Amino acid sequence: MDKIIIEDLKIFAHHGVFEHENINGQYFFLNAALYVETEKAGMRDDLSCSVDYGKVCELLGKVMTDNVFKLIETAAQTAAEAILREYSLVKAVDIEVRKPDAPIEMDFRSVSVKIHRGWHRAVIALGSNMGDSRGYIEKAVEQIVASPQIRNVRCSELIVTKPYGYTAQDDFLNGAVYCETMLSPHGLLEFMQSVENAADRKREIHWGPRTLDLDLIFYDQEIIADADLIVPHPDMHNRTFVLEPVVQLVPYYRHPILGMTVTQLLERLKKK
Ligand code: ADP
Ligand code: MG
Repeated sequence: MDKIIIEDLKIFAHHGVFEHENINGQYFFLNAALYVETEKAGMRDDLSCSVDYGKVCELLGKVMTDNVFKLIETAAQTAAEAILREYSLVKAVDIEVRKPDAPIEMDFRSVSVKIHRGWHRAVIALGSNMGDSRGYIEKAVEQIVASPQIRNVRCSELIVTKPYGYTAQDDFLNGAVYCETMLSPHGLLEFMQSVENAADRKREIHWGPRTLDLDLIFYDQEIIADADLIVPHPDMHNRTFVLEPVVQLVPYYRHPILGMTVTQLLERLKKK
């Protein structure tokens, strides 16, 4: 993808672990690469189709001088998030924060942190079968919408379904959410667990009754098999109550392992 590049933007700021750094300040240098499709702007010679790098420099200056962070990791993270939130044409950013006068008693040129952040598509399944199920799910969707790291949230209709696995329990209410997020898969899972915990979720019987269950179904076309996270969700293709709401939201989303769209997966499951 095309990039707009800013090199060595010099900003005096007060970030650092040591108190003397927070008091005296020092120069930081920022490098940024903004991933933007510039074709339209290039053909029309029109800034409104692209991103104004002058404004981006001002935003970077503001992030660096309105805050005092201990870590340049946090400075880079905050800068990346601010750009992604402010400029919808920016699909992703590289940010490097360089600190040539870092307090190190040795000869060195500079230290820096360089990060990459961008928008990713995610599909989350929601379920509840305890207490005020509709209330729990609606509150969860509100929290997802309110997250500063998430945008463009769309929610399916909620459907009543029979319990799966452990069947001696109340009916479930199920739905799904499609969104874009700048969180990593694990960051998103952690956020989802905080939403579950806010719904007084207690982890008791596996597949048993729960106030709120959030499962990550898809994250872009990524395939993940870690101890604590499996994506695509390993059982989604066997669950009508997951596929139906997902088909409503993103009928052409393709399962990266099975190679079929969610619509095809639902048709196949219904034939079984
Ligand atoms: P289940 O949803 O299978 O009924 P839980 O909600 O209690 O079970 O989740 C148990 C664990 O599953 C979580 O702690 C999480 O680390 C793990 N997990 C693995 N893959 C996923 C996923 N795609 N979405 C949500 N949790 C997942
Ligand atoms: Mg779960």
